[in-house]
Amino acid sequence: MQRMFNLNQQELPTRWYNVQADLDRPLDPPLDPRTREPLSPEALTALFAKTCVEQEVSTDRFIDIPLAVQETYRLWRPTPLYRATHLERALDTPAHIYYKYEGASPTGSHKTNTAVPQAYYNKVEGTKRLTTETGAGQWGSALAFACQALGIDLTVFMVKISYQQKPYRKAMIELYGGKILASPSERTNTGREILKENPDSPGSLGMAISEAIEEAMTTGAKYSLGSVLNHVLLHQTVIGQESLSQMEIAGEYPDVVVGCVGGGSNFGGLMLPILYDAKNRGRKVKFVATEPTACPTITKGEVRYDFGDEAEMTPLLRMHTLGHKFVPPPIHAGGLRYHGMAPIITRLVEDGVIEPRAYDQVDVFSDAVIFARTEGIIPAPETAHAVHAAMELARECARKDEKQVILIGFSGHGHFDMSAYSAYLAGQLVRTS
Ligand SMILES: *Cc1c(COP(=O)(O)O)cnc(C)c1O
Repeated sequence: MQRMFNLNQQELPTRWYNVQADLDRPLDPPLDPRTREPLSPEALTALFAKTCVEQEVSTDRFIDIPLAVQETYRLWRPTPLYRATHLERALDTPAHIYYKYEGASPTGSHKTNTAVPQAYYNKVEGTKRLTTETGAGQWGSALAFACQALGIDLTVFMVKISYQQKPYRKAMIELYGGKILASPSERTNTGREILKENPDSPGSLGMAISEAIEEAMTTGAKYSLGSVLNHVLLHQTVIGQESLSQMEIAGEYPDVVVGCVGGGSNFGGLMLPILYDAKNRGRKVKFVATEPTACPTITKGEVRYDFGDEAEMTPLLRMHTLGHKFVPPPIHAGGLRYHGMAPIITRLVEDGVIEPRAYDQVDVFSDAVIFARTEGIIPAPETAHAVHAAMELARECARKDEKQVILIGFSGHGHFDMSAYSAYLAGQLVRTS
């Protein structure tokens, strides 16, 4: 049986799909953090590349991918689509399970899909240096790769606890020429304030975002965000477009699309083009978004305007939120430990298009181990949430003797997360629910 469905280099998508063209009503605008009035796009360009801000509010259905970005994408794209035949056999299920493998990128996750265009637009617009934050280090290493490829400087504020626990992600950022600081740091006012209160603060994504924004604002650098925003989800739509072509080669169409959501970018990138395509074909597809019970943003959070960061510097976004002061327990899926959600994903959850589900990390790792032992590929702890949900669906198919085609957004590999797998195998992973 065929296990791998590949596109050739010429079949790389040449444009991104913008769901804002197809929403019933426009998204609510971001608000100014001080006045709470709608923020003009011009105000956002103080922080972000102008082209990214234009894409943030664009209602064009398709946006061309610059040729230089396409060429960089071709280093790892189109990524493979796999049929999980060995997993299907292990589960003894009539379901057909496919996974779109974003672990094939140079840094091992989907994040390079937006890091490259963001660095490119900044380069073209004359930016000399970018600042950003990183939690587990996936975003920091992706942006460091992109900045290295395009020749701009990068300063990364890495959540202190991850900085200490993930020395190889830190080394990777430095290898690509990025400058890295443990957050909270002595470098910014925000960092110094936090350290004065609590010298032993382990840091959080919200704190690191505040520091990266302050650093950009006070030094004339620009800031770059790896998830949540509309333009980030836009850049990720290469995933869903490729998947549709690959499923066609496989001669199937997904009944269910499953992904994990931290800020919503990899899942958005996979499901938005499929949502559009399914509508055009008059097909019904179920979209399942998974998250940890330890950080239950879309299953338990409320929908309202909230800040993206701890120090209340970012624009306010209308989204699912657990509150910007929420500090999630230190689960291993660092990329899913965020209090907020992409406004696009929030809208689709509210409209009943996306079905949210939350899982405990012990159940998630248990299935991730089965996946690794059958398919061979080790899922990142974030990705493992999607894998677990898909396996639960496949087991349900087995019970009902029903064939469904399940497509997993496989956001990244877990090669830098082996300490989490060691903890699981040693029986040391704790339930948080
Ligand atoms: C960052 C990350 C996530 C979560 O971010 P999204 O924006 O929701 O995609 C998921 N999986 C991996 C491998 C990541 O690096």
